[in-house]
Parts: sequence; structure tokens; C-alpha cells
Amino acid sequence: MSNWSTFTCENADFKVRSVPDNIVFNARRTALLDSEVFRDMFDMCDPGSPDADEPLDLHETSSELIALLRLLHDPPVAPKELPPITVYDSRRYDPATVIPLPLLLSLVFPLVDKYAIKEETINALKLHLHAHARTHALEVYAFATVNHNDMEWIASAASQYIQPLASYRFEEIKVIPNVIAYHKLVRLQDFRVKALRDLLLGEDIFPRGKHLNVAALLNPSSLDLPTCLLGYGACPTHRERTIASWDRQRKALMGRIETGNIRLTCIPFVRFPPFTFAKYHSMRKHSATDVAGEMGALTDTLSECKTCQKACIAAVEMLAYKCHRLPRRLDQLPNVY
Ligand SMILES: [Zn+2]
Repeated sequence: MSNWSTFTCENADFKVRSVPDNIVFNARRTALLDSEVFRDMFDMCDPGSPDADEPLDLHETSSELIALLRLLHDPPVAPKELPPITVYDSRRYDPATVIPLPLLLSLVFPLVDKYAIKEETINALKLHLHAHARTHALEVYAFATVNHNDMEWIASAASQYIQPLASYRFEEIKVIPNVIAYHKLVRLQDFRVKALRDLLLGEDIFPRGKHLNVAALLNPSSLDLPTCLLGYGACPTHRERTIASWDRQRKALMGRIETGNIRLTCIPFVRFPPFTFAKYHSMRKHSATDVAGEMGALTDTLSECKTCQKACIAAVEMLAYKCHRLPRRLDQLPNVY
């Protein structure tokens, strides 16, 4: 990735000076033409005038000028995309190719605005901002909300990774620019809390009737009379006890959902289908704080009975799949809500 603290120019035919630091930089006229501000300046100046060789004075610090000259001479390209980990994964980028967030917010984007730098560069920078949505959701959401450069899609992308609002400290939350931007998040999170609660209440460990899970649907011949009475995959030995454990686990989880004590996004951990115990266990480690992941913790306590454990995994998998289909970004929220 380009270095934002130094700048040298080959084939220079122009000079600019940082007035506050009194440092002169070499530049190339054709590169500066990608900024509307420089274009207008050149249009107004007569290149044949006696002071054409004099540096152009700019009231930027030398570090601002270095960043500006870099943006114009060596425009950033989009960060490198990484292959998805799971079938549900959204776009991921190689962190080594992404411009650091503080640099983007406090230096690069302000310069792009001030010097009206070409669209192509702005579009590449937007992808750099998007690359931070997962790890710095609140800052990216706030910045994309106030920016005028068509960044609504980035705000939406970031909205899904924002933690329950009450969990932020005042110092963190005040980055949100206005009450409307804040209220949009309140609505999104309220919608998700209700939807997750309904999903959780609707998902039985031994599903019956319309609640049959996918494992049952893939193997319809298994739907005999005991299945219809006891529920699909029911273990005759531990049926009552396992149902009680499932209910206890989801009641505890419900409390945490309602108090905002759990991540509201759901990152499914199992490919769907098929799954294996080994894959399930290795992937669950990474998502222990989402709804399906929390219910999945129950499978460990059912390890002495393969039938109960299998039913639990199928139910958790179904829950993960349904969670994933719920609206989770602002742009997916129904308008009537
Ligand atoms: Zn059992």
C-alpha cells in the first residue's frame, strides 16, 4: 500500500509550497488536473507569465500536501477482496491493502472534498471505508451518514455490525451526527430484537407439524406416526429432559436479547447442509455470542446421547438459517415498520 508520509515526483514540471511549513514539493501538472480546484486555477493563470516557475502557495500543512499529492499522482485502487469463509459471508478485504480508518476520515476524505478530486478516486476510497464497516461500525456509519457522496449503502452495511446502542459509552455514541441517524438504529435494533425473539420461541428441538426442520424435509420417509406424535428426531429416552433443557436455554437467551446483552447480528457457523460435528465445533467457537451460537452451546451438554445431540444441531442450524434471512441492515428494514 502507498506510503502516506512521503512523496517524491518524477518528471516534475510544477512546484507547490506548504505555506505553514514552508516546504516545497515537486509535482506534475497533468496529475494535478484530476482536481477541479487545480484545473480552475490553471485556467485562470497564464502559463507564459514571468512567475510561472514560482511554486504555487497552498495553505495546507506538509503532511496534508503529501496526502493530496499522493491522491493525485498515485490514486488509491480498491482494496483486495478475500474469498468468503462461509456461504453467507459478505464481502471481506485483505486488511494489508486497506487505508487505515483515521487517515481516511481525518485526512483523505476531507482533501478529496476540498479539492474536488475525480469520481474514480472517490469510488475507490468508498470501498476502503466499506472495508472498515465490520470492525468500526459506529464510526463508519456516522461518517457515511453525514457525507454527501452517495454513501448511504455504506451506512447500511455498517448498521448490521453496530452493537446494541445501550452498550456504547457516551464518548463513543456521540459520534452519531444527529437524532434521525440515531433513531434509525433504534428502529433497526428494535425490529431485530422482536424478530429474533419470535424466531427463538418458534424453534423447537423436536419439531412437529409446520415446524419440521430441514433434516425432516430432506428425509420425508422418516415422518412416521411416532415422529408426528413426539416431534421429528425425538429421543424416546430423554425427550422430556432434553425439551426442558432447550426451553431453559432459550428463556435465558431471550432475557439477554431483550436487555441488549447479545450481538443482534447472526453469523451462521455451519454450511447448510451438510454439516459435520467437527466442522460445527470448530466454527461455533467464532460465533458464540449470536443467537444460534448461544443455543448451539447446548449441544455440548447433550454429548452423552447422539440422538438428542443430532436433534439439537439440526434445530440450531435451522435457527441460524432463519436468523440469517431476517433483515439486518437499514436498507432491508420494511418501510411500514
Ligand atoms: Zn437422548
